[in-house]
Formats: sequence, structure tokens, C-alpha cells
Amino acid sequence: MSGEAGVPGYNSAMEDVSHILDGLNDAQREAVTAPVGSLLVLAGAGSGKTRVLVHRIAWLLAVEGATPWSILAVTFTNKAAREMKGRIETLIGQPVGGMWVGTFHGLAHRLLRSHWREAGLPHAFQILDADDQFRLVKRLLKQLEIDDARWPPRQVMGFINARKDEGLRPAHLDDGGDFFQRQLIRVYTEYEQACERGGLVDFAELLLRAHELWLKRPDILEHYQQRFAHVLVDEFQDTNAIQYAWLRLLTGGRDNIFVVGDDDQSIYGWRGARVEHIRQFQRHYPAAKVIRLEQNYRSSGNILKAANTLIEKNASRLGKNLWTEDGDGEPIRVYAAFNEIDEARFIVDRLRQFVEDGRRRDEVAILYRSNAQSRLFEEALIQSGIPYRVYGGLRFFERAEVKDALAYLRLLANRHDDVGFERAVNMPPRGIGPRTLDGLRAHARDFGCSLWQAALELLEGGKMTARAGNALRGFIELIEATAEGMDELELHELMGNAIEASGLVKHFKKNRDGRGEDRVENLDELVNATRAFVSEDENADDLSAFLTQAALDAGEKQAGASEDCVQLMTLHSAKGLEFPLVFIAGVEENLFPHRMSAEDPERLEEERRLCYVGITRAMQQLYLTYAESRRMHGQEDYPMPSRFLRDIPAELVEEVRAVAQTSQPWRAAGATSGAEEGSGFSLGQRVLHPKFGEGVVLNAEGQGRSARVQVNFEQAGSKWLVVAYANLAPC
Ligand code: ATP
Ligand code: MG
Repeated sequence: MSGEAGVPGYNSAMEDVSHILDGLNDAQREAVTAPVGSLLVLAGAGSGKTRVLVHRIAWLLAVEGATPWSILAVTFTNKAAREMKGRIETLIGQPVGGMWVGTFHGLAHRLLRSHWREAGLPHAFQILDADDQFRLVKRLLKQLEIDDARWPPRQVMGFINARKDEGLRPAHLDDGGDFFQRQLIRVYTEYEQACERGGLVDFAELLLRAHELWLKRPDILEHYQQRFAHVLVDEFQDTNAIQYAWLRLLTGGRDNIFVVGDDDQSIYGWRGARVEHIRQFQRHYPAAKVIRLEQNYRSSGNILKAANTLIEKNASRLGKNLWTEDGDGEPIRVYAAFNEIDEARFIVDRLRQFVEDGRRRDEVAILYRSNAQSRLFEEALIQSGIPYRVYGGLRFFERAEVKDALAYLRLLANRHDDVGFERAVNMPPRGIGPRTLDGLRAHARDFGCSLWQAALELLEGGKMTARAGNALRGFIELIEATAEGMDELELHELMGNAIEASGLVKHFKKNRDGRGEDRVENLDELVNATRAFVSEDENADDLSAFLTQAALDAGEKQAGASEDCVQLMTLHSAKGLEFPLVFIAGVEENLFPHRMSAEDPERLEEERRLCYVGITRAMQQLYLTYAESRRMHGQEDYPMPSRFLRDIPAELVEEVRAVAQTSQPWRAAGATSGAEEGSGFSLGQRVLHPKFGEGVVLNAEGQGRSARVQVNFEQAGSKWLVVAYANLAPC
């Protein structure tokens, strides 16, 4: 084997490529071996798009003479990126080396680390995660005396991120004479300044800066254009405007980009993703060839049929048909849980059986619509002693105590990090009260400096009460003392010292909320995480690299990262992944589809695509569960089963437990079967009550004047009513 010059092991010709092409069908092979140039693979879930992309990379290396250095591959989640890297390494039989494989955010970050100066950032710039961003916005609203009832922080945050995703800075915006808009722009402006001062970069900023870097430095852009001769994109349907613009710059005038995607899996419209990019693709890359894949290799027949039927209900689709050679497999199982606790218990029982039958725990995924749902599953899993890992959501690095400890590290890395300062200054409480903090903020604002600087100046000027001054001085000294000699320390020693000096452990041990021990364990775990940390970033010191990873990470540093454990994640983060056994929990109206989306046809279609994504993660077994009653936001709710359940053909479904003696009650709307003589109503029938409104008959008992029915009302929840008095009308 003769390697290409300087890159041993990569052959430019004549190598036996059968290992690259074996295991591909004709259409996949056509995509993998296409001449270098633009190509779009447009195909449904599980049809091998990611596989094609991975094999294409191997093909470029082995046959087209590409070097790993010339390849940039991008996908959507950190987990998917890691899996992709793994698949590439298995196929080419060695580490990916100089190849850039990652998410848009990860790659943008890498670029900014290398070119921080040109991008106008401090060397030790830090990432602001969503939670930090929220706090910062909240603080600014207060500072600007803007009413956070009219301008809720989350909405303001959404506004800022959406503008950044469109490439717009405050200076580009015009309020059009609108007061509401003007206030938003005011906060955005202040927010930018605060970030600038603290060397803070939020997620949207990563992309925007990376884009701006290329616009303002054509020389740097040209360098990367020449370097990355091969750009490949997975999950192309979910790229937003700035990501697409970034890709277009990177490919320059070249008509050479390899993208794979599925319009039916576009689930980030709410974050600015544009399916139109798929539609426009051929305009921007006119030589692009389009290849469709139709065979699904992932899911058994019933699962695939369910997914196909569901997604057909969407009007705006490019349209495709997936088939499988696989048999029907097992039916899709639906479980109507008594309540949310029963739902968690049921799921954990079932997955325990699966594991006892000799399967691995990481073959199991529990998927849900909102992060808040994970807690009950976590509790049930902990009780059963089953290891699990949560992706997204309240990740390890987002836990309050972990962020408290990290705030000290952030200040050690950069004293002007206001977000770190705000968090650490009075945690644990050390007598630095709101008045003192307000004073610091006002000073920082007036003089355009950081809170740290403000503290120094106010202390120096002797403008504080003795008590406040002492407390603040104590804090400053604590940080400076910890910083002493820190360059000589290993990262985990520094972490340990910072936690020790902060007094957090003592504080949590005193904590009476019952979580004190947990929190202390998490701090220990944080020290472990720093001990195990190996920086992949040659451009940053270990401390900065670690803080970055903590912000970008999707949970892999949770306890026992290498352990075989059950996977918990939102439907959004499950994109691109597959599992032999999948549970989708909380398949209920208002939860899934989400309350905010049910009224708007476009958003409803996006929810349905999300359901399609969820169903198509399953390879062999799929469970859909819903609860008849659920405690949400501190209130008992009686949700209706999701409309998506009705979109799945009856013959594919097996009920695990019949609710209220009726079969498939989620099909109830419009059902006429199962008439109950006694009550005059059929189970599942829709009825109208003068006070409670519309509902569905769940159960019936008794005869004549004592006949009673149980009705699940959309608003009022489940009620037993005596038919003779209830004044119920069919509807
Ligand atoms: P998604 O839309 O969910 O991202 P995808 O189109 O990217 O799915 P892959 O993840 O690449 O699909 O493939 C789905 C599964 O099918 C994987 O387990 C893959 O290894 C397998 N697979 C793909 N093509 C083939 C093939 N030709 N022969 C056997 N297995 C295949
Ligand atoms: Mg894929």
C-alpha cells in the first residue's frame, strides 16, 4: 500500500475499496461514488443518509485522494457528531485526525478559538449558555427599568437570538417608531455591551461571529476555502439562515458540497431553520445532483408504516415513500397510564424486562417533548438502580451547584466575566446584599466597566459601608488567593481548591432541602470531570478549554460516562439516532403536540414531524404512553390522548392496558362502537355539558335513573356524572 505523500495510510488510487461499497444499495452507492461536485441526498428516516455521508468521506480519502485535513463534516447534535466520528474511524481504521467533524456551534467555536484576535474577542472568551443568558437578560431588564411582565426575559432572549440568527446586530435594527420594538433593541444593545465587556459569547453569537469573521477577513476565509475542499452536511433540513450563509461562504464559488437531509424531519423551524434551503439548494448549486433513497433499514414494518401514515397527514411535504424488506415485527404498544408516576413505573418495568432478557441498557431510549418530563423517569430509574444518562435538559453542567462552582473557575480565568461574578459573589451567602450589588451594577454601567472593576473602584473610593466593604473585600481576596500560583496546578487541583475556598461544600452540607448530599456529590463529580478532562483544543489552555466544553457539552460527563446506561432525551435531541427499544412518553394533547403549537397549522405540522422523528428512532420495539391525569405546573390535569395516536392505523397497535374497559380510547372522537345500553352513551363518544364543556365518555355504569358516566372534559378534567341530571348532549 502506498500512502499519499505526507499522509501515511491514505491511498489515492488502486486501493481495494470493497469495504467502502459493500453494504450499500445501488442508490447509496451512486451517492458515495459520485464524481466530486455538489450532491443532495433527499430521503426519509433510516434510509442510510448518515451512512452514505460517512462512506462518502471514506471514499474521498481512499479514491479521490483527499486528505483528512481537507474535510469538514457538520451535523446537528454533539451526540450525533460523536457517533459520526466513531463511524468514520471504524470505516477508515484510524482516528479522524485533522478532519473537522462537529456541530455548527462546535466548529464555529473552534474557528473563533484559532482566530480570537481577528474576531475581536479576548483570548479567554467564555461561552454563555442558555441559562446564563437568561439571567443576564433578566438583570439588564431590571437595570434598564423595563417591565419584565411586558417584556418577559425569555421573549427578549428569543428576540436577540433570532436577530443574530438572521445576522443582525442592534445597529442594523430599526424600531419603525414602535415603542415595544424600541425597548427590545435597547436591551439587545446593552446585552451586547455586557457580553463584550465580559468576553462572553452566547450560542447564536458563535455562529454570527464566525460568519462575520469571514466577511471581514477574506484572507482567513480564503485559507479555509482552500483547505476544506470537501464540505459535507448531515441533517441539512435544519440549517438556519446564518449556518447556510456560512456554508455558502465556505464553499465560495465552488459548486461542490455534499448534503443529506429529510424535509419530513425539519424540527427547528422555531429556531429559524429553513426547509427552503433544500428547495433552493439547486439554485445555489446548479450542478447538484439529487439522489433519493427509499429503502429503510432501521425499523420493522409496523413502525415504518405508522411513521409513513402519520407524516402523510402533513400537507407541505416534498413527498416520498419508504419501504422495508423487514417483516412487520412487533406491534406498536400504547399504554394509558393512570398518572405520570404510573407512566414512569411502567416504562421502567418494561425496560428492566428488556435488560433482563440480555439486552444492553444503551439500546433503550426514553423520549419526551419537554425537558421537565425527565425528572420522574430519573427518579424511577434511580430507585430501580438502573444507570441512565440524560442528554440535553438539566444536564450535569447545568445543575445549580455545578454552575456555582464553575462560576469561581470563570472568574479565575477572567475577572471581568460578569456572569461568573454575579453568580459567585454571594454564593454561598457572605453578606453581600442586593443593595451592594445594585451599587456595583450602577457603577459598572456608568463607567462601562465590569462588576469586578466596579468592586475594586468602589472599595478604593471608600464609598461603602464598613460591613458591605468588608464582605466584598473578603470575596475579592478569596478569588485572588485562589488564583495565586494557579498556573502551576493541574486543572483538578485548581477545581478542588476553588470549591474548597468558596465554602460551597459547607454551605450545602448545612442545607436542609434534602438535596445537600446530592449537591456535594455533584461537586465531587465535577472534580472528577476535571481530572478526566483531556483538552482537544490546541489553541486554549486547559481551564478555558474545560469551561468551553462544560458549556457546549451535551451531558457526556455525567457520572459514569462510559457505563452502559439507558438514554433519556427530548425528541429534538434524538434526531439522527436509533435504538432497538424506544419509549415516547406523554403523548397527550397540550404536551405533544405542544400547547403553543396546537392552534397554528404550520407549527402543528412541525410537531407532527417531531413525532415522525420520534417514531422512526425505533428499530424493533416502540411504546407510546400517555397519562390520564398529570400534575403539571403544580396542578392536576386530565389531558386528552394526543391526536397523533389517532394518526396511527389501529391494526398496527396493541394496547397494553384497556382503559375504562374501552378499546383504544384515543380513537374515541367520532367512534360509535361499544354503545352502552344503560347510559345511552357510547364509550368514547364526544359529549357537551352546559358547564364543563366538551369531553369524551370514558366509562359507564348502572342502569336507568342511576346510570352514571365518567367523562373526561377538555377543560374540567375527568368527572362522574349521573346521566339523568347531567344534561349531557352528544356532539
Ligand atoms: P435519519 O434520517 O434518522 O438520520 P439516516 O437516513 O441517516 O436516518 P442511517 O442512520 O444512516 O439513516 O441508517 C439507518 C440504519 O440503517 C443504520 O443502522 C444503518 O447502519 C443501516 N443501513 C443503512 N443502509 C444500509 C444498507 N445498505 N444495508 C444495511 N444496513 C443499512
Ligand atoms: Mg442520519
